[in-house]
Amino acid sequence: MAKQQVLHCSFCGRSRDEVKILIAGQDGHICENCVEHAQDIIAQEITNTSDSKHPASSSYKLSVKKPIEIKKFLDEYVIGQDDAKKILAVAVYNHYKRLNQKIENEVEIEKSNIVMVGETGTGKTLLAKSIARMLNVPFTIVDATVFTEAGYVGEDVESMLTRLLQVCNYDVQAAEKGIVYIDEIDKIARKSDNPSITRDVSGEGVQQGLLKLLEGSEVLVPPQGGRKHPEQKLIKINTQNILFICGGAFNGIDRIIARRVNTNAIGFNVNKELQEYQEKNLLQFVNSVDLKQFGLIPELLGRLPVVTYLNPLDAETLRNILTEPKNSLVKQFTRLFEIEGIALKFDPAVFDFMVQKALEYKLGARGLRSICESILTDAMYELPSQKVKSFEVTLEYAERKFNTSKLSMLKVA
Ligand code: ADP
Repeated sequence: MAKQQVLHCSFCGRSRDEVKILIAGQDGHICENCVEHAQDIIAQEITNTSDSKHPASSSYKLSVKKPIEIKKFLDEYVIGQDDAKKILAVAVYNHYKRLNQKIENEVEIEKSNIVMVGETGTGKTLLAKSIARMLNVPFTIVDATVFTEAGYVGEDVESMLTRLLQVCNYDVQAAEKGIVYIDEIDKIARKSDNPSITRDVSGEGVQQGLLKLLEGSEVLVPPQGGRKHPEQKLIKINTQNILFICGGAFNGIDRIIARRVNTNAIGFNVNKELQEYQEKNLLQFVNSVDLKQFGLIPELLGRLPVVTYLNPLDAETLRNILTEPKNSLVKQFTRLFEIEGIALKFDPAVFDFMVQKALEYKLGARGLRSICESILTDAMYELPSQKVKSFEVTLEYAERKFNTSKLSMLKVA
């Protein structure tokens, strides 16, 4: 009599009565344990290789350069701010290096979320935006002041991820590697530590809300933003690989830094010249301790390990901003005229005039655009209907146009 053949799993060798299910294939069988195990292997393999072998279906293909190259790229768009560029370049490089490392490695590299401290209009947003452009990742700018803690009128902090999702057409995989720039982070400082802030709703609740997002966790995001409500279908996003860059002017932080730096200097024979220089450029010494004093809670600061600063823009920097960047204002206007078949030329004295007005009217770099517009609007209005091949902006022309513009009436005392 022929012996009955005992079926067994071709992968683990378990026999039919040792397992619950045995699925038959062409030449063998597989048990439920091995199916589960295989599933885990596949999931892990896909996560590990998602950047190279299985890129997201979207047009976002992460392109990470070395820190020196990152800084070079930033140099093309942002004038000066060398310290901030260097620190950002390293932080961003490390962030994406961490993102590409194998999961099983026991050294867990923390996220390098960043805080930038600097007056408004010094290039904080521009830096964050340029980094996102270089890396080719989804990028969004949100204003910390629109968020409120649960229970108040305003937006949930999670809705900042809605904006990230929207810019990449709800491609969750792409959004999970994106960059969020949180502007005006200083405005959600704790009131008690900073009497100058007059928010009704304490910013501390918002800071608490940000913690979960910044450290990296699974967050449920309302697809249309705003407040979450119970019947809504929510999108799950893992923030582990999202880089958060925060920026703020932190008005008055120089006094906090001065107090700390001076305290440290007691007992030392401080060189007077050096002291004067340091007093003028106090922001360069900013660190987490100062930000805590300003009113950011320690837990939040723990999740923002990289702190950097931006210098105020002096005349020389403003002058360079006008002409140097890849898409500088002068280049943009020249191109606009060129499309019209008109060669636009500036007397170099016009640039100095614009800078002088930007400083005089306290308009900063942002104001350079309105100054340019106020000088060139008439020409842009009239010339397309005339048959001119070139147009030179002389100092006399610039002065005349500026002095008769609305902008010239806005001078601050
Ligand atoms: P912030 O975020 O610090 O308030 P932004 O980055 O929005 O300032 O800068 C406002 C505008 O001023 C930018 O769009 C850019 O045109 C110009 N700008 C400011 N700082 C710089 C800089 N360092 N280099 C080039 N352009 C600058």
